[in-house]
Amino acid sequence: MAHLYCHEHPDTLVLATDVVDARPGRVALAQSPFYPGGGGQPGDRGVLRWSGGEAQIVDFACAEDGTLWHVLDNQAEIGGSVEAAVDPRFRRIMRQLHTGTHILNAFVYQSFNGALVTGVQMYEDGTARMDFDVPGADNDRLRALEAPINDIIAQDIAVTFDYVDFAAAQAQHGLVRSRSVAPTPTPDGKIRIVEITGLDRQACGGTHLASTGASPPIRILKIDNKGRHNRRVRIGLTDLAAS
Ligand SMILES: [Zn+2]
Repeated sequence: MAHLYCHEHPDTLVLATDVVDARPGRVALAQSPFYPGGGGQPGDRGVLRWSGGEAQIVDFACAEDGTLWHVLDNQAEIGGSVEAAVDPRFRRIMRQLHTGTHILNAFVYQSFNGALVTGVQMYEDGTARMDFDVPGADNDRLRALEAPINDIIAQDIAVTFDYVDFAAAQAQHGLVRSRSVAPTPTPDGKIRIVEITGLDRQACGGTHLASTGASPPIRILKIDNKGRHNRRVRIGLTDLAAS
């Protein structure tokens, strides 16, 4: 994964930029504020506006040469200057949910002998599921993690990121936490590390809050057994899950 604009400028949701390549119904931009999806986090929603029209962005496609295509909801052929705008509600929900999955992951990792994530998926309705490889885990112990998760949110702890050498990251135990959703390295051989100060540090390419207090409290909604080894934990943001 390249260095994404949304990683460096997570609060810039509206960007004036230029179309650098176009096909009917899709464009590549000089700079894009959108998260294109990956690691269980769906791509941003948003809109592209130009003089004389606009189109919803419904999907992203990454070409083999690295071009990020923004797939539009119509067959417009556009060029020149455009305004790209990320759907702010969708991005906020994803940042909150994604940060919540890190907090949950941190406590599962600490409480269950370094248990690894085998899958994660976030949803627009403010819920997410995480699958963990936790042989024989007591589901009540998993459920009890809700209180410490919300303690971390209440403490409003900083969430920061940096880039480290990919080979060094692989060698450091616990940094690449997921077998299924580890981000791909950047062209210069680095991997992005996201840190919740004092709690969690792991490789990740998604979008997160700047601090944990920007999330509403989180509920553990359900725990399913997926075979003897795996547990599927569903979490929800309280301000959305209730509605
Ligand atoms: Zn993440």
